[in-house]
Amino acid sequence: MIEQLRALRPLWVPAGILVAAALLVWLGRPLPATLTGLRTAGPYAALVAAAALAWGFNRGRAFVIAASLLGAFAAWQAWHTKPVYSALVVLVPMNALLVLLYRERGARYRASYAWLALLAAEGVLLWWIGHSPERASLEYWWLRSPPTPFIGRLLLAAAFAGAVWRAWPQYKPVPIGIAGAIATFFLAAEWAVSPGAYALFIDASGIMLVVALLQESHQLAFRDQLTGLPGRRALDERLRGVGSGYAVAMVDVDHFKQFNDTHGHDVGDQVLRLVGGRLAEVRDGVAYRYGGEEFCVLFPGSDIGEAERAVEAIRRSIEHYRMAVRAPGRPKQAEEGAKRRGRITSQGPPEKVLSVTVSIGVSALSGRQTPREVLKAADEALYRAKKGGRNRVSR
Ligand code: GH3
Ligand code: MG
Ligand code: MG
Repeated sequence: MIEQLRALRPLWVPAGILVAAALLVWLGRPLPATLTGLRTAGPYAALVAAAALAWGFNRGRAFVIAASLLGAFAAWQAWHTKPVYSALVVLVPMNALLVLLYRERGARYRASYAWLALLAAEGVLLWWIGHSPERASLEYWWLRSPPTPFIGRLLLAAAFAGAVWRAWPQYKPVPIGIAGAIATFFLAAEWAVSPGAYALFIDASGIMLVVALLQESHQLAFRDQLTGLPGRRALDERLRGVGSGYAVAMVDVDHFKQFNDTHGHDVGDQVLRLVGGRLAEVRDGVAYRYGGEEFCVLFPGSDIGEAERAVEAIRRSIEHYRMAVRAPGRPKQAEEGAKRRGRITSQGPPEKVLSVTVSIGVSALSGRQTPREVLKAADEALYRAKKGGRNRVSR
């Protein structure tokens, strides 16, 4: 249960923002007179920040969606007519759907001018609809409210499904934020007649995008992309507040260079993911990718014996693991085609099996050592493990 909740952690933030917005709408308190400006300033600030961050971090999808929401809010502020509303609930999910169907290619690349041109064209269309409501009555049954017309609901559902499809199963912050922003825009559209609710939900969608973009940039800085483990920067930060009793283990893959040289860099990466995955399961410790083919495990509150037993179990599990790698010369595309057609098993064993070992040095805090000194002692122990014949734990 706890594990499942933890796996859903990336959903907490958007869900929390949504619940907060819904509560505020439900309570329906009018803002004090001095704060009424927030009703318009809030969504503008959040969405401008989201669009600017998405542009700066080169996230194309988030950029187009933030810009669409910004346009939707501005248009509704400017005209507040039914035709404009009908156009908004079609154009926003349509943009979202389009950008989700296309491959993410960043915001600041040449093709993004096509997206900017589309947004500008939609702006002109909205302006025309806003200025000539009698000509652009849009009174077709599929565009008729209340509140969100049929076609709008359909497109919103499709865009949300597209966002979930893009977010699943990695649960990265930005795809989840995008799905949350689309769902929140749906609520905004449903409550468009009440100005407070529309602004609040649009505000919430902007905040979701901002938080998601910040979370992702934090992850990029502190998490290693290859193994998914926290990186060295995260370890340095953790060591600053680790307290008075802890042990560390330095882990180094044996003859790692040979995997790279014999089987290629991809297989080397696969080895690192294997070792990282095993280390992530270490008892009472947290594994970090220290750099290259070296890992560090921190055991807060453990003594050296406990740390030694925990890493010994990991060392053994890595040693006994048989890693299947694609045999060299095998055409990758043909294999992927076969896998897609579900025929991979009928082709016999396609792979070569490798085994991996690691050497580990363990050390624990003693006296007035600094974290750097404890790490250094673990590194020296690792050196002894290598000297002693590799595939072992030394202290
Ligand atoms: P030893 O048993 O003494 O540890 O020998 P080793 O070959 O494991 O150690 P060495 O330090 O000579 O080689 C480390 C290699 O790791 C060199 C570098 O090219 C490779 N490497 C570092 N980072 C990565 C990575 O992210 N992916 C891949 N595939 N290789 C990496
Ligand atoms: Mg090394
Ligand atoms: Mg090595």
